[in-house]
Formats: sequence, C-alpha cells, structure tokens
Amino acid sequence: MGHDLSQDAEIWDDAYKLDRAHVFHSWHAQRNLDPTEVVTGHGVWLKYGDGREMLDFTSQQVNVNIGYQHPKVIEGIKKQAELLCTIGPDYANLARGRAASLVARRAPEGFDKVFFTNAGADANENAMRAARLFTGRDKILSSYRCYHGNTGAAISATGDWRRKPNDYSRGHVHFFTPYLYRSEFSATTQEEECERALAHLEHVIQFEGPDTIAAVLLESVPGTAGIIIPPKDYFKGVREITKKYGILMITDEVMAGFGRTGFWFALDDYDYTPDIISFAKGCNSGYVPAGGVIMSDPVAHHFDDIVFPGGLTYSGHPLAMGAIVATQEAMEEEHIVDNAYTIGKDVLGPQLTALYDKHPKIGEVRGKGVFWAVEMVADRTTKEPLDDATMKQIVAEGNKRGLILGVHNNRIHVTPPCVISADEATQGVKILDQVLTAAGC
Ligand code: PLP
Repeated sequence: MGHDLSQDAEIWDDAYKLDRAHVFHSWHAQRNLDPTEVVTGHGVWLKYGDGREMLDFTSQQVNVNIGYQHPKVIEGIKKQAELLCTIGPDYANLARGRAASLVARRAPEGFDKVFFTNAGADANENAMRAARLFTGRDKILSSYRCYHGNTGAAISATGDWRRKPNDYSRGHVHFFTPYLYRSEFSATTQEEECERALAHLEHVIQFEGPDTIAAVLLESVPGTAGIIIPPKDYFKGVREITKKYGILMITDEVMAGFGRTGFWFALDDYDYTPDIISFAKGCNSGYVPAGGVIMSDPVAHHFDDIVFPGGLTYSGHPLAMGAIVATQEAMEEEHIVDNAYTIGKDVLGPQLTALYDKHPKIGEVRGKGVFWAVEMVADRTTKEPLDDATMKQIVAEGNKRGLILGVHNNRIHVTPPCVISADEATQGVKILDQVLTAAGC
C-alpha cells in the first residue's frame, strides 16, 4: 500500500508542505531543501508564494528565453490541445512538420532534417548515436569544461563533477578547450589560447587514434561551465582538424541556442559548419519539454536506407511542437533575438563591466547577448575562487532585494530572458551592485 491520502488532505492547498512530503528533487541531498513556492510569472518577473514579484536573472535553467507566460505561446499550446493532444511519432502531423521546418531554417545551409527528443540530454544522446553509426567509430571527444545532460552517454561526455558518479558509458575522452582567464596552456592572449588549444586537441586525437573517433562534441558557448566565449577562430580550427581525420563535429546549442547569445544559434557568430546540431531549452522556452537533433544532409541521408536505432514515445509531441511553432514565430515577429543582442551590447556588457571597476572581488566579466558570467575571486592576482559561503550570501542578498541570481561555483551567471527591457536589465544590475557591496565584494 502507498501512503495514507487523508494525511495529504490536510496539506492539499500548501505547495511547500506537499513538496517536502512527496517531491524528490534533482541534484540535491533532500533533507535540508527549502524550495521557494512560485505561483505565476510574466515576462522577466516571477510571483512567489509570499506575494513578492521577483526579477529573474536566471531564466531558470537558462531556458525561458521568451519569458514567462508569453500569450502567443500559451495560445499556440491551447490551440494544439484542442486539436490533438497526442499522437505517436510515426504519423505526419502539421505542428511537427512546421516545428521541424522552423528549427531547421535557423541552422546553416544543408541542414534539413530534425529528430525531436524530449530535452537536451537525449538530443545529445541521439547526436552521438548518429555520429557513431555514420562513422562506424566509437569514441566521442568532449571538453572538461562542459555539460551535455544527465543520461547515459551525455553525462559521460560531460566534463564537470556530475560525470564522476554517473560515468558508466564507454568511449568518452576529454580534453581542454580555451579559457584564457584560467588558461591550461599558459597563454596570455586569445590568439595564443586558441592556437595552443587547437594543438592540444590535435595531439589528443593523434594519441587516441583518429580512426577510433566518431565525433568532437562541443557547446558553442560552454554554459554551465562558466559562459566561456570561445576565441573567434577556435571552431574554424576544430573544423579543419576534424575534417582532416574524418571526424564529425557536433555542436551543442542546447543552452546557447535560440537567442541567448544575441544570435539564433551561437554558432552564427563563428565561421564554421558542424555536421550535427543539438538543441532544446530555448526552442520553446520549456513551455512543453522538447529538444532535438538537426542533421546535415550527409548524416540524415546515411539513414535513408539504414534503420536509425533510436526513438522515443514522445518524439515530436504535438503540444511541444505547438509550443515550438508559436515560440519561433513570436521570437521572429517581436525581434526577440535582436533585443538580446542589443541588451548585451548596450546594457549588460557596459554595466557589468562597470561593476568590475568598482568591486575588487570580480575577477572577470565575460559574455554576450543575455549570457554573462561574473567570475568572483578572493584575490585578483591569485585568481583564487571566492568562497562558497560568500557566493551563497550573494544569492541571499539578491533574494532579499527581489533579484533571482544564478550562482555556479564562484561565478554569478547573469542570464535573464531574451525579452528583458533595458530598464529591467539596468534595475537588475543596480541590485547586483548593492548585493556585491552587502556581501563585501
Ligand atoms: N546541453 C547543454 C549545453 C546544457 O546546458 C544542458 C542543460 O543544462 C543539456 C545539454 C541537457 O539538457 P536537459 O536538461 O534538457 O536534458
């Protein structure tokens, strides 16, 4: 028998108590969790259970690019719900076809086919699967500074601590990607960092054996790892090396895609074309979970007569597809990607840089669009990361002042929805300024 439901009757209207009684949360030890109740939202604002309106500088998991409760997306989901809530992946369905077409047209020329998944991890799972089947090779090379999702191969491809307790998939090799602020290559300029990182990658490929490697999988901007903007020529160099050895290139646009960097895809700001692109989050801002893989024509055609051994009950789920269509259309009509670009260039970039001049515990400010990291250090010379207690205090001080801040290790990630206005962004940075002063930074 399960638990006694009559106990729940007493707490039926209490989100917090029900959560603590029955919800098991991701990535946490459960005992001391203290989740905040969220009731609703609009634009860049969330309404908490205690009635407070909070300015969201996180976009949750950096996915709510279009902001909360966008009326056109709600309408798109409603219309699709009235027409057809669910249908299996084998059928043709208008919302699915339209969603595929709208997503594929944001990719470079020659990317026409989309395989839909439920989210970003399974997008990468299937991107790696396609690359392995296409090349007949096994290994996937990825960065130590990356996150690709929490399923079998995706978590083994991940570089950070989350891989270690989950590392059961074979054929994953890691290498270092450019990060000038903490250079693995003793570089002092972006050019040096780029050149040395490329030489390092080629050595790793040679030592691993090029004919064992299916793909190099890279985030177009490593996100969770620190919003580390790669040097201008890095991907072009990776493309040359991978071509030389017959290795595919998979670009993970799950976090950086759909406006986050001020471009539809972050790769648009670089001069290269990968073979496979994975996406999720911003494609419909998570209004209904969805992700997918966009395949270049050679990869897609490889499976014209060979079975692709991958599938999901909800691949191309109509409600998720309706949300993608409405999101993509609204983002275009309302110039939301341009807004993200301008906010980055004219507001967040200059204003966060001004905070660097004022607060000695800021080690570096980097980013573009609505995708910024403020890296906090105990000392600018040693670059020793700021301690966890102060980082926690920063979140708490933000919370007191109505600002939701995302902190990852010693970094504050400033990643508001792409729809944020200049006034709202300025308001948030002003609060961040007060927060840093209050935390003694
Ligand atoms: N890839 C990147 C770059 C991500 O940032 C994430 C999630 O944060 C994922 C993949 C996994 O996506 P999901 O959590 O939707 O499975």
